Amino acid sequence: MLWSRSDILYSFQNLAPSRGGDSKRYKYTLGKYSVTCVRAYRFRAYPSKTTARVLETQLEVACKLYNTLLHAEQEEYEENKRTMNKTELRQLALDLRKQNPEFQVLHSQVAQQVADRFYEARQRFFDGLANKPKKKKPHQYLSLVYPQSGWRLSNTRDVGLGKNNKRKARLRLSKIGFFTLILHRELPLEQVCRVCVKLNPSGRIHVIFLVEEPESQEQQSEEPKNAVGVDLGIARLATLSDGRYLENPKPLERSLDRVRLLQRSLSRKRFLSNNWLKTKRRLAKEHEHIKDFRRDLFFKLGALLAQEYDLLVLEDLNTQGLIQKGVTKRRRLRLHDSAFSEIRRILEWQFVKRGKTVLAVSAYNTSRECFLCGRINQSLTLEDRIFNCPHCGFTLDRDLNASLVLLRRAGWVPSAVPVELRPIPPLPSLGLKKRRQGGALKQEAPPFRAG
Ligand SMILES: [Zn+2]
Repeated sequence: MLWSRSDILYSFQNLAPSRGGDSKRYKYTLGKYSVTCVRAYRFRAYPSKTTARVLETQLEVACKLYNTLLHAEQEEYEENKRTMNKTELRQLALDLRKQNPEFQVLHSQVAQQVADRFYEARQRFFDGLANKPKKKKPHQYLSLVYPQSGWRLSNTRDVGLGKNNKRKARLRLSKIGFFTLILHRELPLEQVCRVCVKLNPSGRIHVIFLVEEPESQEQQSEEPKNAVGVDLGIARLATLSDGRYLENPKPLERSLDRVRLLQRSLSRKRFLSNNWLKTKRRLAKEHEHIKDFRRDLFFKLGALLAQEYDLLVLEDLNTQGLIQKGVTKRRRLRLHDSAFSEIRRILEWQFVKRGKTVLAVSAYNTSRECFLCGRINQSLTLEDRIFNCPHCGFTLDRDLNASLVLLRRAGWVPSAVPVELRPIPPLPSLGLKKRRQGGALKQEAPPFRAG
């Protein structure tokens, strides 16, 4: 990443980067460290047809520049047994741009940023964090970054009345053109430190503003008054210790026929041909829809819980390990589809945002432990939906028992054990896309309500 050299010592990378989350970095000024947050504000962008085409051309050119730099670096190493540093790479990018009219369609800072990107990729390889940078294909190079200048936001206006009200703005990216942005949230325009335009594989375009903010003073949360334990599972996505549960909508499984069809069709097309690209885009759209559906549901669940509770107790799951242990293909798919890591990250974020507390407790034997007497029920299998304690005779729903055990491990004892389970009323949701009926796309799915 590129920061002005005078003020930055190093950037701090979260080990588990969250999309749309914050990354912290430490600033050294006047003999003191201060923590600033780099926060991403992402907006959907709508270009005209011409602008969209220009963006695609520029991405191709940037990809070519990246590959040229990679090639130059390899030659340099073969001849002189040395690698180029960041400044040399950036200078090389600028020189190439000067010499080659093709590269001149790129804004100069964007060209430099391509060099930075290659440099970062190579450093990650040197640090043993990634594979050796490879030659990129045009369909893999999907974003351009304007580090400081070259962009302007103007004509911010409100459109539509009441429910249809939207805040729109016009963004000009130098050498590319104009985009209409939908500003669905406030953007602190003064603190924007760079702008990134990203073409998603599905063809959607997003503009991401990186904003440097002083780290919000985390309000020292008061003693939590109430707590909720959440047990994640496949049959029921989330079971709360108050007896409510969220059915697992299994979005991928529901779209699986269609995804398979597209995947098969893609594999029959010639690699990188127009038809291949077209099918690739359709497949990406399908996956993006599934992802959006999931995130939408998780965010709504998070908002609901964070409104009602002060403390969230989750189990510290090793999702990857869980998936590897999955015996059947179907179970592994369902684990992927349930996206435990994502739901956990979103719930945590929602609580932390409101200054509330999240506790992750050990996940060991949560399903087998009896909430009442604390002893282990060894004979419990994955198929048993009801927990039946052989020691004290306590009987409860399996997942509900687990969520209560979680709560107890965090030091909370609920006053009463919920007697019966009730579903969380449907959260207003995107819903899954209506499928066209007939043909190979026919799908038999049970009627579905989110929540
Ligand atoms: Zn018991």
